[in-house]
Amino acid sequence: MTAPTPPALDVRNLSKHFPIRKGLLAREVATVRAVDGISFSIGEAETLGLVGESGCGKSTAGKLILRLIEPTTGEIRVSGTRIDGLNRRAMQPFRRQLQVVFQDPFSSLNPRMRALDLVAEPLRNFEVLDNAEIERRVAELFEKVGLRADQLTRYPHEFSGGQRQRLVIARALALKPKLIVCDEPVSALDVSVQAQVINLLIDLQKDFGLAYLFIAHDLAVVEHISHRVAVMYLGRIVEIADKDVLYASPQHPYTQALLSAVPVPDPTVTPQRLILQGDVPSPMRPPSGCHFHTRCPYAEARCRSERPAMRQVGPKQFAACHLREGPVAEGV
Ligand code: SF4
Repeated sequence: MTAPTPPALDVRNLSKHFPIRKGLLAREVATVRAVDGISFSIGEAETLGLVGESGCGKSTAGKLILRLIEPTTGEIRVSGTRIDGLNRRAMQPFRRQLQVVFQDPFSSLNPRMRALDLVAEPLRNFEVLDNAEIERRVAELFEKVGLRADQLTRYPHEFSGGQRQRLVIARALALKPKLIVCDEPVSALDVSVQAQVINLLIDLQKDFGLAYLFIAHDLAVVEHISHRVAVMYLGRIVEIADKDVLYASPQHPYTQALLSAVPVPDPTVTPQRLILQGDVPSPMRPPSGCHFHTRCPYAEARCRSERPAMRQVGPKQFAACHLREGPVAEGV
């Protein structure tokens, strides 16, 4: 019997706490719990959408996975190999496998480099190829992402926003990665261009078997691209489920509130809006027990003192809420 293929990415109990220091002696006076013990995995050729309000820790989670910042606790595995704690040299092969597409393509592209050199840069850094081979590979990538050969010699400012994001995607693909962290990749684009870039990402996933961690706040975009969706609130994942299940029958009160705010494009349907009271509390002083208890319309006494465990509440659905029953889930 052959061993099951490990997931492209597996994250266990990952946390990032930032100390706040003050005074001459830089004494630690508080801690920001940006990410507070999250666990999930992403299979090959799978997209996991990570959603939540701004400041919920989703972008910090992406940076931790890319090892742009170091975790406070937790484990990160790429195709079964643990990468947290690896030194720079040992991390090198995994840098190829993990790529990123950020929100603002302008800031991720050197304005003084031509498109050809921007896409060729990772190939020159990581592979031993002659110039002719590099140019052939870049031309191939340009075609894959829908850019034209005559644009190879242009500079970033000569492209439109959507074309610049295509350029960033071509650069991310150059080293044939396994996983791309897409951090709000279409938020800065016009709506019509957003759909083109999302469809491009879907096509590339089919062609190359890519796994995506798709971080976004736009629930409609996440629904379009994701296979599964994880919902974050104040540094924790509160619900994770197959996309269709989550959008049809959210189980966590926070997910219900988020989804009830999405406009329904059917005039015959009267939306049942669940309006949340108050603002998102500061991650410097997160509420005790269930972080959501200060805004939850169903909160009860134990919600203020006990952190709810992640439970399997349906065949492909997990939620962390005291009101939901099911076996405690280890891996999701
Ligand atoms: Fe609301 Fe309590 Fe469930 Fe938290 S655990 S979501 S406060 S009912």
